[in-house]
Amino acid sequence: MASRCESQESGGNEDLDSENVVKVNEPVGNLSSYYSLPPGYTGTPKKGHLMFDACFESGNLGRVDYITEFEYDLFIRPDTCNPRFRVWFNFTVENTTPYQRVIFNIVNFSKTKSLYREGMTPLVKSTSRPKWQRIPSKNCFYYRCPDHRKNYVLSFAFAFDNETDVYQFAYCFPYTYSRLQNFLAELDRRNLDCYRRELLCLTVQRKRLDLLTITSPENVKDDAKRRVIFITARIHPGETPSSYVCQGVIDFLVSKHPVACVLRTYLVFKVVPMLNPDGVVLGNYRCSLMGFDLNRHWQEPSHWAHPTLVACKNHLMELDSDENVHLDFYIDIHAHSTMMNGFMYGNIYDEEERFERQAVYPRLLCANAEDFSMTNTSFNKDAVKAGTGRRFLGSCLNAKTHCYTLEVSFFSYNTAISQGTSPYTEEGYFKLGRNVARTFLDYYKLNSLVLPGKKNTVKAANHRKESHGADNKE
Ligand SMILES: [Zn+2]
Repeated sequence: MASRCESQESGGNEDLDSENVVKVNEPVGNLSSYYSLPPGYTGTPKKGHLMFDACFESGNLGRVDYITEFEYDLFIRPDTCNPRFRVWFNFTVENTTPYQRVIFNIVNFSKTKSLYREGMTPLVKSTSRPKWQRIPSKNCFYYRCPDHRKNYVLSFAFAFDNETDVYQFAYCFPYTYSRLQNFLAELDRRNLDCYRRELLCLTVQRKRLDLLTITSPENVKDDAKRRVIFITARIHPGETPSSYVCQGVIDFLVSKHPVACVLRTYLVFKVVPMLNPDGVVLGNYRCSLMGFDLNRHWQEPSHWAHPTLVACKNHLMELDSDENVHLDFYIDIHAHSTMMNGFMYGNIYDEEERFERQAVYPRLLCANAEDFSMTNTSFNKDAVKAGTGRRFLGSCLNAKTHCYTLEVSFFSYNTAISQGTSPYTEEGYFKLGRNVARTFLDYYKLNSLVLPGKKNTVKAANHRKESHGADNKE
């Protein structure tokens, strides 16, 4: 009855780890059409014998233990080749009876500190309710469980209300490699003269590493002097909000919005929307196919182990050494599993002036985006982060290039007006992306690098911006 996508079966041993300890009995394959049956039951599954499945793109569920007909222990499948990371889950349940009530316990998280402590809850959708919803917080509990060696367990109660539905549960809004490819194919079909898509390399699993260039056509001529903003996302595959923010950036930049038109006139945007396609397809949380946390390998990436990093880094180095190019920004988009809001990490530099200049963009973004927190924004040079894109590129690119990590919470942001918190929706993440994009106009205006007199004047853009209403309320 039970089967798995990949060869391997977890043992019957209940020995669970609490923190980053490698155990041999962690499941390595996703469950595939797995019926969870009462002990000793040998007949064909009946209605109400739940069928679990995670054998689809970005799926993750490694094992289910039947406790009672009302309660099931669920095990996240660790990242491929790296059992330290167990956070992302994404699976379906079907074969329910009408109004069947269950408790699911997710018992093998690798992190203890979690936004579940702050009220985050899993997402659910179903065939007849295709929009993702958060499970009500009154039905979710995150606690140290004595039955699981005091490991942190997330328990949630759920009532299946439609017996023909397939229900899907996930850690956060999924955003698959295929979804990105469909989005980019749609952009291709529009034949925009401001948009170009190239293949930077293929991954170990022969997936595309896409590079997008968004700018006015005259800016891509070989001898054109150009200011470049380089944006990457999804180096950590479970950090799906980073893809929503990145799509928000892209959608805005290719749009007819007057601010976007001005930005394209003066600037060249280069976007690598998914730095770790293999990890995304596999349903990993943090690692690539071979178990590498790619955001710790920027210093010396290898062709065989980290091909997407090699390709991206080479491209950045070419831009950095091109005398016609000012590489002004590098921003790598992530999602954060314990903090609220959008915020940034930047670098600490010895030169006071460089350090000060670096704080300008986050301040402007904070003024534009109600979910962006300057309080959470910090600058550091931790040794453990030496291999991140932000740290490595900050140390080797031209001193004029600002390098940041942009983080956005997996859960919610604090609203200044109501003093409350607002859980992010897919639209909320898109909106942060639009705000990231339009803040570049404020930055370049402040630095007098965008001047009236070319095709689109700043004055005209501002006027039209107002006539569209305040952008941060769009
Ligand atoms: Zn990350």
